[in-house]
Amino acid sequence: MQNVLEFFRNLPRKKCQQCGNDIHEKADCYGNVCDSCDHPAR
Ligand SMILES: [Zn+2]
Repeated sequence: MQNVLEFFRNLPRKKCQQCGNDIHEKADCYGNVCDSCDHPAR
């Protein structure tokens, strides 16, 4: 049986597909872009 902690440790971090910044995990998934790129108007 696989160690749960190891499983999460091996998960790749989400990165913005536009600027490459790390995406902060939230309850709702923004997709593949960070907060800044998701709301370019601001
Ligand atoms: Zn971005």
